[in-house]
Amino acid sequence: MSGIYIHIPFCKQACHYCNFHFSTSLKLKEEMIHSILQEIELRHNYLEDKNLQTIYFGGGTPSLLNESDLNRIFDKIGQHFSINDNVEITLEANPDDLTSAKVKELSLSPVNRLSIGVQSFFEDELRWMNRAHNSFEAEYSIKCAQDYGIENISMDLIFGIPISDHEKWERNLEKTIALDIPHISAYALTIEAGTALNHFVKVGKAIEASDEFVMEQFDRAIYLLTHAGYIHYEISNYAKPSSFAVHNTNYWKSEHYLGLGPSAHSFNGHSRSANIANNPLYIKAINNFSPKIEVEVIDVKTSYNEYVMTRLRTMWGINGDEIQDKYGQFSNYFQIKAQELLKKNWVELNNSTYTLTIKGKHFADAATVELFLE
Ligand code: SF4
Repeated sequence: MSGIYIHIPFCKQACHYCNFHFSTSLKLKEEMIHSILQEIELRHNYLEDKNLQTIYFGGGTPSLLNESDLNRIFDKIGQHFSINDNVEITLEANPDDLTSAKVKELSLSPVNRLSIGVQSFFEDELRWMNRAHNSFEAEYSIKCAQDYGIENISMDLIFGIPISDHEKWERNLEKTIALDIPHISAYALTIEAGTALNHFVKVGKAIEASDEFVMEQFDRAIYLLTHAGYIHYEISNYAKPSSFAVHNTNYWKSEHYLGLGPSAHSFNGHSRSANIANNPLYIKAINNFSPKIEVEVIDVKTSYNEYVMTRLRTMWGINGDEIQDKYGQFSNYFQIKAQELLKKNWVELNNSTYTLTIKGKHFADAATVELFLE
C-alpha cells in the first residue's frame, strides 16, 4: 500500500506562528496545478506499489483549489495509479473557505475526509495568531460539513497560546467534543525561527508561554479527550475508535509515499527526497522535465533513529523483538537505554513493547534523544 501527498503552497494570509512553505500571492496557482500534473507524469514510478491507500492534500491551503483543479489532479492520478476501494482522501481546509457552496462541492468530490484548521473558537486567540477566519466561521464550517454528510472530519487545535488561559482551553476542547468530531489534532504552539511570532518575541511584542503552562494544557487535553472516548494514539492526535488517520499512521509505520509540489517529501524505504521549497523554481524545474529534488539515502543508523522517533510517539510503541529483527546490531544498545527510561518512569513495558507513560509524554522528545544513536 502506498500514499500520495500533494502540497498546495498558497495561503490567503500568513499565520504568525507558521513556518510551512507557502506564498500569499496566488498569481502562480494555475501554473502550479499544471506543474503538479506534470510531476505526477514524471515521478509516478517512484512508488513500486501503485495501489494507493491514501491521498492527502496538505499545505498551505488546499481548500483554495476549485472543483476543476481537484478533478484534473484526480484524473492524472487515476491514469498512473490504481486507487484502493476504501481509499482515504484527505483535504486540509480553512474555515473561511468552507462556505456552504464549497462544502457542497467537496461533498460531491472524491475527497472523503476534511482536516479543518480551526485552532481555536475564541476571536482574540484567532486574531493573535493572524488566522484568516473568525470564531463564527470556525464553528459554522464544522456544522456545514456535517450537514452535507461529511462525517470523517479531523480538527486542528492549538494550545499553549500565551494570551489564553486554562478555562478557555477547556472550553475549546469541550466545544470540539460537543461537535462530535471523530479526529482531533492538538498541537502545542511552538515558536519557529523565521516566523512573525519569533520576531514579536524577540522585540518584546509577545511573550512565550512557560513550559508548565503548556504541559498543564497538554494534560487537560489528554484528560478531557480520553474521558470523552477518544484514543490518544499519537502524541498530538486523538481519535474515536476506527477514525485514526490512515495517511499519518502510514507515515509513522514507515509505509511508502510520493510527495508532489514544492517542499513535499517522499519516502520509498531506501531514501527520503525533498522537493525544492520555492514556487517559481519548482515550476521552472518541472517545465524543464528536471524536478529539483534533494535525496538522502537512509543508512541503517538513520533508519533506527527514525524508527524510534516515530514509534515512541505512538500508542503502538517500540517493540524490542522488532528492534532485534530489523536492527540486531543496535539491540543491546536499545535495551540498555530503554531500561534507563523505565527507571525514570517515562516508558512502560508490556509484551516486549515500550510505550510512553503519562509522565513520559511530557518528555517525549528527551526520551527519543536518549534512545538515539549518535
Ligand atoms: S493557513 Fe496553515 S499553512 Fe497557511 S499560514 Fe496558516 S498555518 Fe501556515
